[in-house]
Amino acid sequence: MTLMKVSSFAAGQWIAPGAGARPIASAITGAQIAEAGGAALDMQSMIDYARDTGGPALRAMGFHDRAKMLKALAVHLGEHKQMLYDLSFDTGATQSDHMIDIDGGIGTMFVFASKGRREMPDGQVYIDGEIEQLSRNGTFLGMHIATPLQGVAVHINAFNFPVWGMLEKLAPTLLAGVPAIVKPATATSYVTEAAVRILLDSGILPHGALQLISGGTGDLLDRLGPQDIVSFTGSAQTASMLRSNPNILRNSVRFVAEQDSLNASILGPDVTPDTPEFDLFIKEVQREMTTKAGQKCTAIRRIIAPDAQVQNVIEALSASLDKTVVGDPRADGVRMGALVSASQKADVLEKATAIGTESKLVYGNPDDTDFAGDVDPGAFVKPMLFHCENPDTATIVHECEAFGPVSTIMGYRDIAHAIELANKGDGSLVASVITGSGDVAREVAMGAGAFHGRLYFNNATSMKESTGHGSPLPHMVHGGPGRAGGGEEMGGVRGVLHYMQRTAIQGSPDILTAIGGRWVPGATEIDGPAHPFTRKFGELSIGETLHTKSREITLDDIEHFANFTGDTFYAHMDSAAAKRNPFFPDRVAHGYLLLSFAAGLFVEPNEGPVLANTGLDNLRFMKPVEAGHSMKVRLTVKAKTRRTDEYGEVRWHVTLTNQDDELVAEYELLTMNAY
Ligand code: NAP
Repeated sequence: MTLMKVSSFAAGQWIAPGAGARPIASAITGAQIAEAGGAALDMQSMIDYARDTGGPALRAMGFHDRAKMLKALAVHLGEHKQMLYDLSFDTGATQSDHMIDIDGGIGTMFVFASKGRREMPDGQVYIDGEIEQLSRNGTFLGMHIATPLQGVAVHINAFNFPVWGMLEKLAPTLLAGVPAIVKPATATSYVTEAAVRILLDSGILPHGALQLISGGTGDLLDRLGPQDIVSFTGSAQTASMLRSNPNILRNSVRFVAEQDSLNASILGPDVTPDTPEFDLFIKEVQREMTTKAGQKCTAIRRIIAPDAQVQNVIEALSASLDKTVVGDPRADGVRMGALVSASQKADVLEKATAIGTESKLVYGNPDDTDFAGDVDPGAFVKPMLFHCENPDTATIVHECEAFGPVSTIMGYRDIAHAIELANKGDGSLVASVITGSGDVAREVAMGAGAFHGRLYFNNATSMKESTGHGSPLPHMVHGGPGRAGGGEEMGGVRGVLHYMQRTAIQGSPDILTAIGGRWVPGATEIDGPAHPFTRKFGELSIGETLHTKSREITLDDIEHFANFTGDTFYAHMDSAAAKRNPFFPDRVAHGYLLLSFAAGLFVEPNEGPVLANTGLDNLRFMKPVEAGHSMKVRLTVKAKTRRTDEYGEVRWHVTLTNQDDELVAEYELLTMNAY
């Protein structure tokens, strides 16, 4: 078999491994299959290529253009994923592990593509939160914006997810408009390299947006500056060494760390072996111990069960683990493959021995070599379950991460004790609780929330559709405090903002409108050449405004509307009752009547570019309208968002005022307009 030469992609060139390349062995056979690193890469030219070529090209695009690019990349990867599956077996992964890594990574890209289109503006500036009123008359306002960092994102990834690990960082980075240099863990870098080749060969990415380091990073971190960011996944030891690099500290280079985690799963006090939740618990724990052979940052390392259920859990879990066939991941019926390497196997066995000094091995045997297929001397280890009888005094079980199919069960007295044990991990990525009790869930959320990046509750109601204790989702935050690294990734748009700078902007309404690309109340109103509903999406300007004529509201109108709709609420019908209410001076018009009259005042009835009214946001009724009062409407184009090549969404700022020019109601109207 020819040796794979795992290359780097630096400053537009593929560079093969050099003289000092490191050998990479198959996890299944132990034979060398590849080599990586050893090439003398010019780190400064990589940084410059990203900053000077990739960054400007990405920033010239808007969020929606970059979201479309992500989607195209995800589709392209999907078309070539078989090649990645084929390579991935040698990392020890089974086909279902590939689905998590490869399909999961592609799925993550799709989610960011979709969130970019739906939740981010069709422009280059992201507005974070509401306009802040900083002055009495509204001539001086505040807002927060986010713009892309103008440096490079360096992604240093762990070995366990060579594809997902890259894509979960790359998708938000590219959506933010920042170029990336990806450095995969050497042990599985041949899979990442293949994925990068697919991405680059697609021709979809601008030059400089993506580079790859196979092997060491040399003096890369010594050359980073204040506009750069490092996002690291791996061990606490490496994280600590890298984040204390003097140059990183001196330049306040953002450093996001996802590291070790002693995740816990709690069996609720309400769950007994005769309930579906008990089987669910066993299934979740078994899955977390065996998926990726337990090499998951989110895997369940500590099983926390009521004292009375510990024995039941050990028996049920042992029976379930007995059914897990371990061996060659390509062989039929195999459910768990190998650890990534012989050194990882040695590390896991060493850590299991340490855990065994204070806990009893109740399932499994480190010397068991009965594996499916011809796999000697592959890096295989069978699942091991320990029982810690004194979890309050034990320390190793709460501190030592055996990054393999190793887990420890411990008993708890009451839910407060369970929380205390879960928190002994000093910060984790995820803790799960199997419970049908809202009270238990609330107590855990209050007592353990600060110690865990994610809390996953599951029970009979949610179990069919739940996504699994160990699955970080692109919609949800991934990361955790303390031992877990103190970092945070993904979480939808939150994950994109990690690659952007938030800036507080203060100024007049016109200045804020010009910067944010969204009309701000108080900014100049533009008189359009015709009724705005007769103007196509592309013709409308931000700030274009219509002022309607005024309309009087009569008692007949109120009664007609009440009887017609059935809304005969007393405030509209009964003068004495209305007066007893602290909000109303007398009978008042329905808020919905005012909205309907508003539409009657501002619509242009003829067929035209407005295709549909798709919604209404932020509606507030400020002042009641009595019979005999009148109202008028101001309608202003606040923002525009392209949706397809045929139409786009227009967000209108609408105010209703009375005969004294007092604000009666305010809202944002959404319409879909033809181009
Ligand atoms: P690791 O040994 O710390 O390596 C992580 C990454 O750092 C690899 O790409 C490695 O490259 C690189 N690296 C090591 N020394 C470096 C240096 N001096 N300069 C620059 N880069 C350097 O961790 P691992 O063994 O790959 O991963 C296992 C650990 O990752 C476990 O502890 C697990 O809990 C953690 N993990 C956490 C998460 C999470 O999201 N929190 C996810 C997955 C894994 P080389 O391979 O070339 O040395």
